[in-house]
Amino acid sequence: MISTKPVSLKVIALGEYGVGKTSLFYQIVHDKFHNEYLTIHDDCAIKEVVVDGRNVILKIYDTCGCEEYLSLLRLYCKEVDVCILVYDVTSPESFNKLEYWRDEFLRLSDPPVPKHFPFFVIGNKTDLEESRAVPARKAEEWCESKGNTTYFELSAKDNAIVKQVFMDIIRTVLSRKAIEDDDSLRVVDIQADVKPNKTTCWS
Ligand code: GDP
Ligand code: MG
Repeated sequence: MISTKPVSLKVIALGEYGVGKTSLFYQIVHDKFHNEYLTIHDDCAIKEVVVDGRNVILKIYDTCGCEEYLSLLRLYCKEVDVCILVYDVTSPESFNKLEYWRDEFLRLSDPPVPKHFPFFVIGNKTDLEESRAVPARKAEEWCESKGNTTYFELSAKDNAIVKQVFMDIIRTVLSRKAIEDDDSLRVVDIQADVKPNKTTCWS
């Protein structure tokens, strides 16, 4: 049975330019892949999904990863429910910058207990396996060393498991919120919110 009370989750992806942040979100919102560098011009894309019978409104904030946009980034990072750190498995530089983006997020979002904030790391572009430069184990070890950090690998291009991964991420965040405080889930009136194009059932 589908719950009538949608839950709103603010989602942000951080990482170096070109790692595939926009491509990932594009798959989630439009179910398509583009071979060009994409720019989402709107501040926020809305996608309504159903996960395990629960209506979830994803408010997706795409970032360009540029220092000049720091004030915008500060705004984007406020009250984020889901922070996804993205790197490109063919680029060690993008992997090495995960630490920077994690620290930057914690600095800008200023969560009540930083060590309890859950992060999700995505190693993107696994379709380019022959050019892989970051072993999965290395990324897993980095996540383990941080605590509260879940690792996934995928290809925004192949799209085979993109939705599966996002569903896992949403499940984790929802169950965590439920444990923390049942009332902390922001229940929103969908009529009063921005209407998504369509609802996708991921359960
Ligand atoms: P962003 O700067 O992090 O938002 O990166 P984009 O989403 O704009 O992607 C940068 C480039 O990488 C584009 O040319 C995309 O087509 C390409 N790209 C993104 N994801 C993948 C992927 O999974 N596999 C491959 N081969 N290319 C990808
Ligand atoms: Mg982008």
